[in-house]
Amino acid sequence: MTSHKLTLIICLLMVFSGFGQEKDFTSNLYSTYGKYKEATLDKRRIKHNDIQPLINKLSTNPKFKVTVVGKSIEGRNLSLISIGTGATDVFLWSQMHGDEPTATQAIFDIFNFLTSGDFKNEKENILKNLKLHFLPMLNPDGAEVYQRRNTLGIDINRDALALQSPEGRTLKRVRDSLDADFGFNLHDQSTYYNAERTDKPATISYLAPAFNYEKDINEVRANAMKVIVYMNQIIQKYAPGQVGRYNDDFEPRAFGDNIQKWGTSAILIESGGYKSDPEKQEIRKLNYVSILSAIYSIAKGNYKNIPISDYDKIPENDRKLFDLKLNNLTYNLLGKNYTLDVGIHQLEVDDPSHSTYYNSSRVVDQGDLSTYYGYETLEGKGYSMVGGKVYPKILPSIKEVSQLKALDLLRSGFTYVRVENIPKSENYVSFPINVIGKDYKVPEFKMRVGVIPNFILEDKGKPRYAVINGFLIDLKSGEGNFKNALILR
Ligand SMILES: [Zn+2]
Repeated sequence: MTSHKLTLIICLLMVFSGFGQEKDFTSNLYSTYGKYKEATLDKRRIKHNDIQPLINKLSTNPKFKVTVVGKSIEGRNLSLISIGTGATDVFLWSQMHGDEPTATQAIFDIFNFLTSGDFKNEKENILKNLKLHFLPMLNPDGAEVYQRRNTLGIDINRDALALQSPEGRTLKRVRDSLDADFGFNLHDQSTYYNAERTDKPATISYLAPAFNYEKDINEVRANAMKVIVYMNQIIQKYAPGQVGRYNDDFEPRAFGDNIQKWGTSAILIESGGYKSDPEKQEIRKLNYVSILSAIYSIAKGNYKNIPISDYDKIPENDRKLFDLKLNNLTYNLLGKNYTLDVGIHQLEVDDPSHSTYYNSSRVVDQGDLSTYYGYETLEGKGYSMVGGKVYPKILPSIKEVSQLKALDLLRSGFTYVRVENIPKSENYVSFPINVIGKDYKVPEFKMRVGVIPNFILEDKGKPRYAVINGFLIDLKSGEGNFKNALILR
């Protein structure tokens, strides 16, 4: 054996034993997560009022330093929460887009982990090597109304140069004052992203942003790539195949790109979709596990051994998912039959307080959709699409409709019930029949992009499935992932 080979084996042993410990840490984080999950933040539509009491509590804990580092346009505090004594600074900020809360929730789970008495060795290792700085919910005004942009109506992530928003200025000032070694830029992305050429949602997507048009890789960017490769290995274990990599075209106005340029290894994490997880609580857990694992790896320096060539092996992000995809349906138009695939998005509409929502679905594509995928897919060969009928009796109120056996109505081809009195404030019902007003005219059934998907799928002339507000209901078993039907006036 040459001395070269021996050195190589020793190196590999060191690497693997280091990774072994980290793997244990990661799987322990995953299995004990329930203990640290911040129970008060269990829905996506969280507000500044929900996190401020938790921040106030941290400010009484001597381990943490809490500083108000800025204010949003509407005057909400932007707080920086720091812990640790190490020489390496790690800066994490979340929710610069108001409707992207998943990582904010995970940050408060991480605080619970840090304040607990558990994982003593790992925490000691982290806090003696690193200083951690968190800025959760950078856009609290946007969060208040669950929108991407801030109150000025701009995208803070295109304000890194102009610095017109107080939120963007705060982010820049904090970055500059810390001159952090690592920066975690935490976002949510559409649930319709998938890992390229697979039906797997991009549950997590990563980017080590470029700092110039040439997309050069210097040490700063390479370190971000290495940490991403490390986190990708973790997500692959818990959500196999469900990771995407963002296009790294340089965007001169974005924070990630500039922060990379300013010398902080910038890691963009985007929380996407996960089947049957509308509130993204499993994705929040994956954030918690992978970010804490990455922090531990940075503390130990093990990430340095990771080859950056593995970064490019992460599949690219694509956007080819529907909530519901119906394949090979028969559609009769002007007396002739055609075969169509139909793609449906179950879109969200906020209630006036922006604390809950209902779904109002749309057909977003039709035709040959063989290169697309669905969270839910029906092989519909032999099924004909027909419009639903209006129930012949007019009922006095929604209450009377709720007392009907909806499934029996659907089995008879009815998808609408007309009602005399509909309260003004109501937009949806929780049973699978659409409620229509006295004067509402049901449009002639036409499959078109943009229509609300309400129809029956017939098998040899008999209703076999119903699609109500974009939700598929099996009329034989009565089953389906139904959420709500609509009130149409
Ligand atoms: Zn975002």
